[in-house]
Amino acid sequence: MASRRRGGTTPLELYRERLRESPRCGECGYTDEGGEWQTAYRERRLVYRHVCPRCGAIERRVFRLNGEN
Ligand SMILES: [Zn+2]
Repeated sequence: MASRRRGGTTPLELYRERLRESPRCGECGYTDEGGEWQTAYRERRLVYRHVCPRCGAIERRVFRLNGEN
């Protein structure tokens, strides 16, 4: 695990870093090696989606861009 501390790292960059890992299905536990997240932007949010090739379940991650947590 790379845990470099750099002052210029934004939360978004950290988030993207996390999503570079192969998507893993929360339903069946299948890891889609080399699979990619689809990204969509809407209403100040980045929505990452991945459809499991095995069971068809949809994994979603939402990242808010407006700094509200
Ligand atoms: Zn699955």
